[in-house]
Amino acid sequence: LAARDLHPHDSVIEIGNAAIGGGRFALIAGPCAVENEEQVMASAKAAKEAGARVLRGGAYKPRTSPYSFQGHGPEGLELLRKAGDAHDLPIVTELVDTRDLDLLVEKSDAIQIGTRNMQNFELLKAVGGTDKPVMLKRGMAAKIDDLLMAAEYILAHGNEQVILCERGIRTFETATRNTLDLAAVPLLKEKTHLPVIVDPSHGTGKRELVTPMALAAAAAGADGVMVEVHYNPPSALSDGPQSLYPEQMVALGDQLDRLLGAL
Ligand code: PEP
Ligand code: MN
Repeated sequence: LAARDLHPHDSVIEIGNAAIGGGRFALIAGPCAVENEEQVMASAKAAKEAGARVLRGGAYKPRTSPYSFQGHGPEGLELLRKAGDAHDLPIVTELVDTRDLDLLVEKSDAIQIGTRNMQNFELLKAVGGTDKPVMLKRGMAAKIDDLLMAAEYILAHGNEQVILCERGIRTFETATRNTLDLAAVPLLKEKTHLPVIVDPSHGTGKRELVTPMALAAAAAGADGVMVEVHYNPPSALSDGPQSLYPEQMVALGDQLDRLLGAL
């Protein structure tokens, strides 16, 4: 169902009032985690000013350490909704447990499946049974075909609204958090009709690499990028080192516009 040969034209997936795919580049931005009202409001404002069309933020965080901030759950989702509504931005947030599915279906405009759950088949089947767009992130040790088969699970269960996200993979290189596989973009676009976006924040783990890799993703033909922003990255409860400052976020929006205008 995901294959390009059976479905030659690009799928366009609607997240609220934002269409992803089909030619218009989409900026998706927001904090890694929803921490408090002031923080999520400031992040949403920066996202909006940068030209973002979707607000992202985590309420349920899949953290490597059980002692790290795990997200505020339902209250976090409520704050994300409030910030999205205040700035007329649809919201996308991560689902980590099927028990939270109904709440996310009710409160969010799109559901993110993170790298750690790309092959959590029960989660894939569960979101496949909803009518919410799904942003499926590539597993950090997943091949391109594994990502496509994970998407196939969602499609096979009746939900055709899937957006693929390249977010970097594990390699021998430790200078960056992950190795961003930008070749995956044109390759995926050859193999599938589904929109493909890139996450240069997790893909590099380093703030100074986010802007160049977001621009490179646009040049490689991605349908959009997802970027983390925080009003005070040094104080962030998660992913501060890769979060842009608000003014960097706005500058990235300008640079993307100029690059896309030139392409
Ligand atoms: C995130 O988007 O904040 C996230 C946890 O991403 P990933 O699943 O790619 O690590
Ligand atoms: Mn993050």
